[in-house]
Amino acid sequence: MLQIKGLSKAFGNKQVIRQLDLDIPTGSILAVVGPSGGGKTTFLRILAGLEKADAGSFVLDGKEMTSEELKAEEQIVGVVFQDFQLFPHLSVFENITLAPKLVLKEDKALYTKKVADLAKTLGISELLDSYPFQLSGGQKQRVALARAMAMSPKILAYDEPTSALDPALRQQVEDMILSLKKEGVTQIVVTHDLTFAKNIADHLLEVSPII
Ligand code: ATP
Repeated sequence: MLQIKGLSKAFGNKQVIRQLDLDIPTGSILAVVGPSGGGKTTFLRILAGLEKADAGSFVLDGKEMTSEELKAEEQIVGVVFQDFQLFPHLSVFENITLAPKLVLKEDKALYTKKVADLAKTLGISELLDSYPFQLSGGQKQRVALARAMAMSPKILAYDEPTSALDPALRQQVEDMILSLKKEGVTQIVVTHDLTFAKNIADHLLEVSPII
């Protein structure tokens, strides 16, 4: 269970998140919905340790930590960003294995096996030697997901995972998120798409711009 307590964030005098309290049970799916500018991406960036909260703490499985501590243990939250943020000069294989190699210091045999398994699950085995510019939007998204999953995070978070996709791929993303849930992965999905959110989520967090 991840508990979020009293989370607040302002940019200058613009309050974006105010005193948010939230419990996310292990293995559940939280959808964060709401209009543009409501603070959804900011919430994800704080969880990923890319943005510093002004106040608040996190309790993961009973252990209290700050957002810096969440980031320090990179395996906790893996984020699939809307624009995927793949490294353009690295192959798909290198994109996925970079962090396991550098951060987890896994040896080659281990990360090679891991990437082969993940690639098979996500249907990207044929793409491991390709470069990001050679991939479609849906393929890039699966590579970004494989890269996040390679760190075995406790929580996977997605920023607008369906926005660049046609209906068939959207269905694939939905199926994939629901199958990860069956494996017990906790997931947070930021989306504009209320139908998609209702199809997948156990809980909805509606954010609205704070005036
Ligand atoms: P969208 O659905 O359009 O992506 P969102 O709900 O994800 O919107 P955020 O991107 O979290 O919203 O932005 C929330 C508010 O915070 C916006 O008004 C935005 O302009 C502001 N904001 C976000 N990041 C910064 C920043 N680094 N500096 C200043 N203001 C920011």
